[in-house]
Amino acid sequence: MSRVYNFSAGPAVLPEAVLKEAAAEMLDYRGTGMSVMEMSHRSKAYDDIIKAAESDLRDLLHIPDNYRVLFLQGGASQQFAMVPMNLMKNRAADYIITGQWAKKAYQEAGMYGQANAIASSEDRTFSYIPDCSDLPVSENADYVYICENNTIYGTKFWTLPDTKGKDLVADQSSCFLSEPVDVAKYGLIFAGAQKNVGPAGTVIVIAREDLIREDVLEGTPAMLRYKTHADAGSLYNTPPTYGIYICGKVFKWLKEMGGLEEMKKRNEKKAKLLYDFLDQSRLFKGTVEKKDRSLMNVPFITGDEALDALFVKESKAAGLENLKGHRTVGGMRASIYNAMPMEGVEKLVAFMDDFEKKRG
Ligand code: PMP
Repeated sequence: MSRVYNFSAGPAVLPEAVLKEAAAEMLDYRGTGMSVMEMSHRSKAYDDIIKAAESDLRDLLHIPDNYRVLFLQGGASQQFAMVPMNLMKNRAADYIITGQWAKKAYQEAGMYGQANAIASSEDRTFSYIPDCSDLPVSENADYVYICENNTIYGTKFWTLPDTKGKDLVADQSSCFLSEPVDVAKYGLIFAGAQKNVGPAGTVIVIAREDLIREDVLEGTPAMLRYKTHADAGSLYNTPPTYGIYICGKVFKWLKEMGGLEEMKKRNEKKAKLLYDFLDQSRLFKGTVEKKDRSLMNVPFITGDEALDALFVKESKAAGLENLKGHRTVGGMRASIYNAMPMEGVEKLVAFMDDFEKKRG
């Protein structure tokens, strides 16, 4: 068996220890005689799994008691609709457009009410985070929406916008659990699991209790109401049982690693190694403003498309997989989530250095 260094933006690398443990439990989960995949979601064994997952997540993020944790399906994209359907009481919301995912969420919200784009970085291909210190927040806005880490473009909000008292909703899909966050600063956080915490198919929502409302937009299906899932402890219907089980293992792994303070340190160290190399390179160039750089997704280019393609091809042959940039932007992108070890980034930098030297 040989594993590669997988720089995929998602589904992405998971901790090897978690995969090994899941493999060992595959045929007989702790004396139940079945795998977690084959187990009723109403069984005692599964109840323990989902409860432990929530409790470990609460520990990691110090989630206040007045916030609910939901394990849902439909990916992060489904939240683009669920957020307005459940939160748009005044039928108005403000969106900050920092990339394709924020734009999709904004467009989706426009189907349910007045979605206002109050800031955008589209003028320079989303290569920066706009100044959000004095935004024209709408008086009747039900919330202000951000995509906190922009997976495709490699930018991150290092300062949260001043929402002027409105609830902040954040898509944290690609930075979830990569560092500590103060949950109380948000009304609602959501994250697709397939980057930092588990397999695709699970999405985690952390919502302040008062935002889990009965009076949602008319016609909102039961499955798309937060309240349906909150009232049923995420067991209204069959949840993505195996995905939640793996997320739970990742949460335990994160605790064992020292929690989110420690992950932040490790992630900063990995990102610094790569950014420092990019900043001194004569061949490779980072594509975003330095102050807004993501710790998770690092896009870079050579400036020559044929050379970019050659780099992707040769890096793959060297066991460094999925370095091709997003299909809409080209170039390269290294996603260096929690589970990417330092050695992976060291190998990548050594490979880039070698690639550069060969070209004089
Ligand atoms: N938001 C962000 C920040 C993402 O990176 C992605 C997927 N790459 C999505 C939303 C969409 O996620 P999904 O495919 O789970 O719907």
